[in-house]
Amino acid sequence: MIQPFPWQAEAWARVREAHRAGRLPHALLLEGPGGLGKRAFADLLARSVLCSQIRPDGTACGRCRSCHLVSAGTHPDLSVIEPEEAGGQIRIDAVRALAARERLTAQAGGYKVVLFDPADAMNPAAANALLKTLEEPSSWWLMLLITQQPSRLPATIRSRCQRLAFSPPSEPVALQWLSERVGQIDPKLVYGLSAGAPLKALELADREILDTRERMLQDLMGMMEGTRDPVAIAEAWHKAGPERALEWLSGWALDMARLQAVPEPPLLFNPDKAQALGQLAGKLPGRDVHRLGEMTREARSLVGSQVNAHLLLEGLLLEWASKVPSAGSGMRRRTSRGSRAQR
Ligand SMILES: [Zn+2]
Repeated sequence: MIQPFPWQAEAWARVREAHRAGRLPHALLLEGPGGLGKRAFADLLARSVLCSQIRPDGTACGRCRSCHLVSAGTHPDLSVIEPEEAGGQIRIDAVRALAARERLTAQAGGYKVVLFDPADAMNPAAANALLKTLEEPSSWWLMLLITQQPSRLPATIRSRCQRLAFSPPSEPVALQWLSERVGQIDPKLVYGLSAGAPLKALELADREILDTRERMLQDLMGMMEGTRDPVAIAEAWHKAGPERALEWLSGWALDMARLQAVPEPPLLFNPDKAQALGQLAGKLPGRDVHRLGEMTREARSLVGSQVNAHLLLEGLLLEWASKVPSAGSGMRRRTSRGSRAQR
């Protein structure tokens, strides 16, 4: 991508103006929900400040030596600091290496850009080391800290950054952008499923993903009618991808709670499934729906960490199944445990 996304125009104008006036801060905190293109924006800004022939709209030329080095991932003044594995931490060594390099190359001139993605992955030692760097800023640092959860960063770091908040675009802007990219898929459907985050919506605009969602809802309905086994479903969902499964389940639980509160809620994550979810919600007391929703969100926050995702899903689905008010549920739970013991 060479241009900022349409919903980033205002933020881009701000940084472009600051850059032109030589007033770019040493550290910018790019904060906001996922799926809005914060990383793409940071990449664009990094390219722009390093480019030697910047274009009138403030974007990089794409042709100068600097632009080529950035594209090749070998620009000496651009560092990207990320956890070594997804969900991991950013460690102090990565931040110390920056400061050491700054001392070696400080005379080279021009900006030194560092991207932290996500910045909240810094462990306390790394955050402290960064803080020291921010306290004695060389005039040409541009630190870009990307985060969906700014509250996870120490207040001392936040207070030294200028904030750049990203929020979801208006529905017409998002739908216009999506409709040019999703082919045969209904842009409204994926827009709803993404909670308004266009890049997330684009990712979901995939027939296979949507078909899997369909199957998973069928699984859930069957399980809540007592005809499907939660243990088998957990196994299938784990194979299909536990993160996405928990994301769907969490959205269904939220919609069920909304459908219990009012007959026609103005906002649903799954407007296309209102009827099925309404039926399901009608079978359970409100307190159970809330409890299951909480448990599902909790499981979602755990998946990807050290926990066994398969067992997590299994435990959660057994909890869901245990709320079925039919007489068969107790028997089925015993069967499930029996089959686990046999393995
Ligand atoms: Zn250039």
